[in-house]
Amino acid sequence: MQNIIIIGSGAAGLTAAIYASRADLAPLLITGALPGGLLTQTSDVENYPGFPEAVNGFELMFKFQQQAENFGTTIKSDTAEKVDLKAGGPHTLHLTSGEVIETKALIIATGASPRWLGLESE
Ligand SMILES: Cc1cc2nc3c(=O)[nH]c(=O)nc-3n(C[C@H](O)[C@H](O)[C@H](O)COP(=O)(O)OP(=O)(O)OC[C@H]3O[C@@H](n4cnc5c(N)ncnc54)[C@H](O)[C@@H]3O)c2cc1C
Repeated sequence: MQNIIIIGSGAAGLTAAIYASRADLAPLLITGALPGGLLTQTSDVENYPGFPEAVNGFELMFKFQQQAENFGTTIKSDTAEKVDLKAGGPHTLHLTSGEVIETKALIIATGASPRWLGLESE
């Protein structure tokens, strides 16, 4: 039984993982198909505080992951297929690999999909 599972490895999921691991909850984070999330797809991130010269999106998310792991997050490369939520828990997570894991708490941080206009210049 896990204390807490976080689904998604973007900025939201990894931030949740940093906080949960600092609270000694030893979270398990499921990366999904895009480890590091959407920010890994961009070059310069210019609006993140602390980086006056902009930071590469991939590098930034790699550092998020290292920070989460340093505090005790376990990162698992897999995708959530189905979740059975139960009032008061435990919740049951089904992964595409076939693994089934029970957890006391679950954070879903699967992001959003940008809606492209389909322009050549996009
Ligand atoms: C091209 C581009 C450039 C951008 N540039 C900037 C910028 O410069 N500055 C800025 O502030 N914002 C920028 N953004 C927006 C920024 O990327 C998002 O706000 C941010 O990534 C949202 O983080 P998130 O963790 O909520 O979701 P996401 O980054 O979308 O992460 C979602 C995560 O969920 C995982 N996931 C999804 N489904 C499942 C599943 N079933 N099981 C397990 N995991 C799953 C994915 O693998 C991924 O790891 C940009 C976005 C794009 C597309």
